[in-house]
Amino acid sequence: MKVLKFGGTSLGNASKIKEVAKLVNNSDSKIVVLSAMSGTTNELVEIANKLYENNYTEAKERIDQLEQNYLNVVDSLFTTSHYKKEGLNLISSHFHSIKSYTKDILTVFEEKSILAHGELISTALFHYYLSENHIKSVLLPALNFMRTDKDGEPDLYYIKENLNREINSYPDDTLFVTQGFISRNNFGEIDNLKRGGSDYTASLIGVAIQASEIQIWTDIDGMHNNDPRIIENTKPLAHISFEEAAELAYFGAKILHPASINPAKTANIPVRLKNTMQPESFGTLITSRTEDKGIKAIAAKDDITVIKIKSGRMLLAYGFMRKVFEIFEIYKTSIDMITTSEVAVSITIDDAKYLDDIVSELQKYGTVEVEKNHTIICVVGDFIAESKGYAGTIFRALNSIPVRMISYGGSSHNVSILVEAAHKKEALTALNSTLEPYV
Ligand code: ADP
Ligand code: ASP
Ligand code: MG
Repeated sequence: MKVLKFGGTSLGNASKIKEVAKLVNNSDSKIVVLSAMSGTTNELVEIANKLYENNYTEAKERIDQLEQNYLNVVDSLFTTSHYKKEGLNLISSHFHSIKSYTKDILTVFEEKSILAHGELISTALFHYYLSENHIKSVLLPALNFMRTDKDGEPDLYYIKENLNREINSYPDDTLFVTQGFISRNNFGEIDNLKRGGSDYTASLIGVAIQASEIQIWTDIDGMHNNDPRIIENTKPLAHISFEEAAELAYFGAKILHPASINPAKTANIPVRLKNTMQPESFGTLITSRTEDKGIKAIAAKDDITVIKIKSGRMLLAYGFMRKVFEIFEIYKTSIDMITTSEVAVSITIDDAKYLDDIVSELQKYGTVEVEKNHTIICVVGDFIAESKGYAGTIFRALNSIPVRMISYGGSSHNVSILVEAAHKKEALTALNSTLEPYV
């Protein structure tokens, strides 16, 4: 069995949904994981923000507009009056539920419930479309089997048990459809796997059912060697390793959710990135194979905050780092980069939710400086072990750019460079042209 995940970009309008239906309509047994139609989750986030601000008028206007867009999708998607009616009923019941939140102060739990409608609607519409076209499928509610534990991490045991039980109750079926992104938390409340989380759902499902392959279908022909949103003429990489894919995803390659590679890597299930608009293109195959050496790709991660702790006396003492790391652990904030000197340590984080608390704790140990708005540029490949002058080449490329921090040798797959966000494009462009012969 395979897992095929189609992102919002593959479900942008009725005709794109029809293309996806063509791609899944064959005898291979599979679970199809769908995101919300593109733009929907962003819009639901905006609606929730208006509700948090008690701006019910604008929230209602936005809800009405979104509902209207869906009514248009229903009209273009279905041909028969029966399914047009089913589609309209579906949309009106989901929007009735969203509108019920426009009366009172929104809670975090209610926000999560609002966001879940995007995936619930896209999968229900897709399932109806398959039925209208006499393609037999089973709609599996992800809320029946996707669950996170008390730490907010996926509960793989629960997912395995419940998903396999659901699938096994349809022994004659080969085409299953389910929602990406949404889950329940430890208390059984509606939750999600964070933005872009449908890739993570696909990977977790792949592991739970021991899939032969996890396919991520999107609007580009695989993992490119640089960020195509910023750099022109980037190229797809035919083959990369799990480690390289994980580094690229973690350091900003939006094509994959940062956590999505790890489960597949652990279970050794190949991940294939494919283009819905050009299914004949090879895409990218991600496996444990690492035979291609050298620099493969460059990615960039934005909104990085640097925290510098200065304390000559404390830094010389052993145990200091442990105390520093403990503070980040208490606030569940992960560290991306770290550099040390005799008198100071600089640390970067991307999640600044607990920044004020972290800073006030760190101040017990020295002077703390915070700089926001930085970008980590990450050069990925399998090259550190080889003394081929890669480091020199990377740093020569950045000759005219003020570099704030460097991390080299942490793994053999990654060199990370921290620059101010204002220098991001310049740095990516300089690296792209200088590293061209290598990538
Ligand atoms: P989906 O809706 O299918 O989940 P996303 O927008 O989340 O799609 O991811 C696909 C996008 O990721 C591409 O359109 C591309 O702009 C962006 N992207 C960023 N970095 C890379 C990269 N290195 N390779 C390919 N795509 C990338
Ligand atoms: N719909 C969700 C989002 O936009 C999940 C996803 O697209 O992967 O973040
Ligand atoms: Mg995505």
